[in-house]
Amino acid sequence: MEDCLGPPKFFPVMEPVFGGKEEQYLLDAFRSTWISSIGKYIDLFEGRFAEYVGAEYAIAVVNGTAALHLALAAMDVGEGDEVIVPDFTFSATANSVIYTGAKPILVDVDPETYTLDWRLLERSITKKTKAIIPVHLLGRPCEMDSILYIADKYGLKVVEDAAEAHGASYKGKLVGILGDIGCFSFFGNKIITTGEGGMCITNDPHLAAKMRILRDHGMNPKKRYWNDHVGFNYRMTNIQAAIGLGQIEQIETFIQQKMEMAKAYTRLLDKIPGVIPPDCKAWDEGVCWLFYVFLNNQVLIDNRDQIIMKMAERGVQTRPLFYPLHLMPPYRSTGDFPVTDKVSKAGIFLPSSVKLTEEDIAHICNIFSDVINEICES
Ligand SMILES: *Cc1c(COP(=O)(O)O)cnc(C)c1O
Repeated sequence: MEDCLGPPKFFPVMEPVFGGKEEQYLLDAFRSTWISSIGKYIDLFEGRFAEYVGAEYAIAVVNGTAALHLALAAMDVGEGDEVIVPDFTFSATANSVIYTGAKPILVDVDPETYTLDWRLLERSITKKTKAIIPVHLLGRPCEMDSILYIADKYGLKVVEDAAEAHGASYKGKLVGILGDIGCFSFFGNKIITTGEGGMCITNDPHLAAKMRILRDHGMNPKKRYWNDHVGFNYRMTNIQAAIGLGQIEQIETFIQQKMEMAKAYTRLLDKIPGVIPPDCKAWDEGVCWLFYVFLNNQVLIDNRDQIIMKMAERGVQTRPLFYPLHLMPPYRSTGDFPVTDKVSKAGIFLPSSVKLTEEDIAHICNIFSDVINEICES
C-alpha cells in the first residue's frame, strides 16, 4: 500500500546497523580470496574482542550455540553429567548441554533480575553436577559473586552465557570473563552481529588450546590429519570476522544508543496504563539488548498473542519473551518455577534497532497504547 506519504513504515524487533568499516573490511576479505576460515580478519576480530572484554584468549566460532557446546566439550562435560541452567533463557542454552550427552537441570530465576537465582543453586547440586551456566539474560548481569562462590565450594565449572550481554558489567568487570569460559553470539539480532557467529573467551590457556583443537575437527595442531579427539567444524569464516571487526569497533556507540532508546521508551511507556517498563536498575551495569515491557493486568496478559498480532498489522513487530524451558517437550521438568512462569507470560519485546529515532519510538508507543486500549475495551 503506497500513497503520497510513501510506503507504510515497518519496524522489526531488530535490524543490524553497519555504520563503520564493515563494508570496507568485507570487500577486502572477499577480494583477498581468503573467504574460508583462515585469514587476517579472524585474528584481528579475536584480538579486538579479547581486548574489549579483557580476556587473554578469544576463539571465534560459527554461532553462539556452538560457542556454548565448545565450552562444555572443552571441560569434558558428557554422558552422565548434569549442568545447571536457568529455566528462563533462550533454548540454545539447554540444547548445548544436551549435545554433550549431559542433562540440563533447570533452576528458577531471581524476581528482580530474571537471571539464575543463586539462592536455589545448592539444592539442585548433586554428585553428577559438573557445571553451571549463568545466563546474563536481556543484558542483565547475574549475581556472579554468589554463583562463583557456590561453584568453587562444589568444584564446578562456570560457563557464562553472555549472548545477550556484550558490554554488560558486574562490579566493574565485563561479563564473560568472570567464570571459566564466556560465550557470546553475533546473530543478526544481537548487540553486534556477523550474520551468524559466536565467540568463546577465557583466561585459561589449557581451555583455550582445547577449544581451538575441538573447533578444528579435533585435529592435532602440530600434526595435520591426526586426531586425538572427536572435534567439530565450528570455525568462523574470514568473511564473518571482517564484518565482526567493523562491528566491534562501534560497540560502545551501539550500547550508548540502545541505552538512550531504553530511556526514551521508559519515559513514553510510563504513561500507558497496564504496561511496566523494566526498572531503572536494569541499566545500572547491564546493557539494553532488546527492549521489553511487562503487561500488568490479567486481561492484557491473557491477550498477549492478540496484542502482538494487532501491533504487526500496524507495522510494529513484537515478540513474546522466552517461554519457560520446563514447559517445552525436550526439557520438561516437574519442579516449581514461579518466577519464570510469571515473567515469561507477561513480557513482550519491542522494536530495538539503534536506527530508531525518538520519533519512531513515539510512533511505536502510540500504536502500543492504541492496541492496549482496544483490548481493554473489547
Ligand atoms: C542468541 C542466544 C544464544 C544462541 O546464539 P546463536 O548465535 O543464535 O546460536 C544462546 N543463548 C542465549 C541466551 C541467546 O540469547
